[in-house]
Amino acid sequence: MTDALNTKRSEEIFGSAKNLMPGGVSSPVRAFKSVEGDPIVFDRVKGPYAWDVDGNRYIDYVGSWGPAICGHAHPEVIAALQETLEKGTSFGAPCVLENQLAEMVIDAVPSVEMVRFVNSGTEACMAVLRLMRAFTGRDKVIKFEGCYHGHADMFLVKAGSGVATLGLPDSPGVPRSTTANTLTAPYNDLEAVKELFAENPDAISGVILEPVVGNAGFITPEPGFLEGLREVTQENGALLVFDEVMTGFRISYGGAQERFGVTPDLTTMGKVIGGGLPVGAYGGRKEIMSMVSPSGPMYQAGTLSGNPLAMTAGIKTLELLKQEGTYEKLEALTKKLLDGILTAAKESNIPIHGQSISAMFGFYLCEGPVRNFEEAKSADTERFSKIHRMMLEKGVYLAPSAFEAGFTSLAHSEDDINATIKAFQESFSEIS
Ligand SMILES: *Cc1c(COP(=O)(O)O)cnc(C)c1O
Repeated sequence: MTDALNTKRSEEIFGSAKNLMPGGVSSPVRAFKSVEGDPIVFDRVKGPYAWDVDGNRYIDYVGSWGPAICGHAHPEVIAALQETLEKGTSFGAPCVLENQLAEMVIDAVPSVEMVRFVNSGTEACMAVLRLMRAFTGRDKVIKFEGCYHGHADMFLVKAGSGVATLGLPDSPGVPRSTTANTLTAPYNDLEAVKELFAENPDAISGVILEPVVGNAGFITPEPGFLEGLREVTQENGALLVFDEVMTGFRISYGGAQERFGVTPDLTTMGKVIGGGLPVGAYGGRKEIMSMVSPSGPMYQAGTLSGNPLAMTAGIKTLELLKQEGTYEKLEALTKKLLDGILTAAKESNIPIHGQSISAMFGFYLCEGPVRNFEEAKSADTERFSKIHRMMLEKGVYLAPSAFEAGFTSLAHSEDDINATIKAFQESFSEIS
């Protein structure tokens, strides 16, 4: 390979890792399976940058897949963590920091009157589904093609073609009997949802979705879609659940529900809320959350849930985000980046479609518009894979898949954005 990048040490470490862990990684998408080359092994991160074990520096647009919205290793978060660390890492008993973070979440997120902390987004989504079922006494759930809600059995369903495909498991090991209760519809297709409700009277506990999709590239809700889901769920005695694990505290301080003015019954959170430590949460109306053990009969627990270290990182991160002008800054910065990417592609006659909201962006190498996962699939993944490698060589770290959103942070400067746009210009022009 004519790689300009020296990745000798990365290759050595990843080579060993492959014998130690499946695929050499702790989470699949890190393995660079859908882009050129081997994964880069990181040594440290700071602000908008990541350094690999060979000493190369990258401007990072993955941000640990979302949490690093204030920039990596923010000095105030680190200082708060160091102070908390001295008092111990896990109590297994109530701590006041849980109250603090709970109050902040309840103040910020319109749908949340009560919250339960867990350790990951997967855990939050798994618990919220149990809660949807417990509260409604119904077993079925509607999800959308291309939306990711963690790796729990009942969410591992990809929709086939057709409007309302009955779910078949995406992974061996997931029982058909489990996913039989998972109904799927194309994103932005309200009619498909209405049909599912008509076909399954009094059987659907609710609808769960990413209010802005970040796990199939970046897809925004069409006007009226979220509002329509709010109505159709209410009409059918079902719950509306926003999975804001990615969008929470990123699309705005109150999440996508604040930005779009549609209030779900329940919300899941993760990523930003943990400020880089493992935290997830689910919350919603008091009446529903009171079903959760020990105040109600729905069981859900966690040895490390609400631990002081994780709560501290969350609290500090939200404090930083709450400051005046934060989201205006993120919005402008991200828009500038996206505009630069779109212009650069067009200058090289490369078809592209992209969007940004607040500190999230995404582009597809196709004409667009992209309103659902099916349309997203027309993107040129081979070209993306090459661009991804070229950008790495130019010191820019993008998510290693054509179907992931990009994340900016408060630490990214105008200079970082300009350098990134320049790298895109060069890459697009080299490949066209
Ligand atoms: C990342 C993500 C999850 C899963 O969270 P983990 O912390 O990785 O378990 C669930 N839902 C959405 C929308 C996500 O982006």
